Amino acid sequence: MADKKQSKKDSELFAKYPNLYDGISKSDLEACMAYAEDYKAFLDRSKTEREFTENSIEAAASLGFVDIESKKKLKAGDKVYASIKDKGLIMAVIGKKDVSEGFNILGAHIDSPRLDLKPNPIYEDNEAVYFKTHYYGGIKKYQWTTIPLAIHGVIYTRDGVKHKITVGEDESDPIFYITDLLPHLDKDNKRASDIVTGEELNLVIGGMPLDSKKKDANVKEPFKANILKFLNDKYGIVEKDFVTGELEVVPAVKARDVGFDRAFIAGYGHDDKVCAYPALMALLAQEKPAKTCITMLTDKEEIGSYANSGAQSVLYENFLMEIVAKSGDGSLDMLKYRKVIAASRMLSTDVSTAYDPKYANVYEKRNTAFMSHGIKLEKYTGARGKSGSSEATGDFVSEITRVFDKNSIPWQTGELGKVDVGGGGTISAYMAKYGMSVIDAGIPVWSMHAPYEVISKIDLYYTYLAYKAFIENI
Ligand code: MN
Ligand code: MN
Repeated sequence: MADKKQSKKDSELFAKYPNLYDGISKSDLEACMAYAEDYKAFLDRSKTEREFTENSIEAAASLGFVDIESKKKLKAGDKVYASIKDKGLIMAVIGKKDVSEGFNILGAHIDSPRLDLKPNPIYEDNEAVYFKTHYYGGIKKYQWTTIPLAIHGVIYTRDGVKHKITVGEDESDPIFYITDLLPHLDKDNKRASDIVTGEELNLVIGGMPLDSKKKDANVKEPFKANILKFLNDKYGIVEKDFVTGELEVVPAVKARDVGFDRAFIAGYGHDDKVCAYPALMALLAQEKPAKTCITMLTDKEEIGSYANSGAQSVLYENFLMEIVAKSGDGSLDMLKYRKVIAASRMLSTDVSTAYDPKYANVYEKRNTAFMSHGIKLEKYTGARGKSGSSEATGDFVSEITRVFDKNSIPWQTGELGKVDVGGGGTISAYMAKYGMSVIDAGIPVWSMHAPYEVISKIDLYYTYLAYKAFIENI
């Protein structure tokens, strides 16, 4: 016998994941377009993890956030942060409820695939000067040739002074360039991974010699000497200083709208700044939330979340411990702390792939996210037989989706691709091991890990609303 309450219209039995631009109200579309403008401006100023951290602290400080070190005790409404070696950030708005109820956490990463300079990068070859690079994260190497490139980062001179360097972003700056072979002479049928090798990702940085009449007779490499002289005059650095450098080569491009209708945004580093930005903004919008809300912006995700700034670093955990301790008498009860973490909930806010009909053969269309269909909930990632996955419990998926539904947040689901094709992972596993409930929830991307990736504005906007709904209502 059918229970009357449970009987549905036939059409209601089907899951629907509509395109969110369809039927959108004028005011929602305006809000979505305005949000995209703010994101593009922030992204253009925040291409590296250091820049993202600095700009996030600046935005937070203007709203009253202070370094957690400066607080002896924490109370509801307090806003605190800790910089993680200037390359990551964790921040909190203290809630009204006792910490024993757990934290609501948004966790994104702010590093993106790129080329780093090697420690001994400069060389001269046939009257040109180059930087040797070492690629960072998973890239298709050929995509980094013949595009305008900029250098961002820091380097220390022998006196220990840090110098910030950004060249290639201003319209009047030069850019840097990696050459490719002309098609006329490129007749080998190489695999995509072999078209350009890691040792061929060498950046053209100069092509004028020191004046031969004026140069020191001992200088055998006048073109390299000319660049070294320029660098010494401008920054005071000598060749050996490059060993201290954290100099990152990134596309010298600005985020731009894509399409006549401006539905999409192309940009460098959407992975994962397109989730980090709304995760930051959702936290900055809090005044006195019910539970303590936290946003983590981590480094090194693209290479395994190691190092003292990656999600596996205890520095993030230290901040959570400090919140628990300073919410009480200042001392830390380890068992109490672990129970707070086990009661906490987190959205691992990382991007995933969007279905691309040009490459339909790698996707399983029934279990794939689509551009403009909203935030993608990914119950598990991993490769092949879910290897390496941090799978969310059905219980948690139910809790999250009910909160989203109650707050009119559209969402979709999907896996990364076909079961046997590939796989990937996020930072979720490092939090789940403490007993925290974690699920991956981020924005679908076209051309993920390319120098210029694409996302949908409507996905960005509704993801911001989703992150806000999560931290305010879970
Ligand atoms: Mn990512
Ligand atoms: Mn990635």
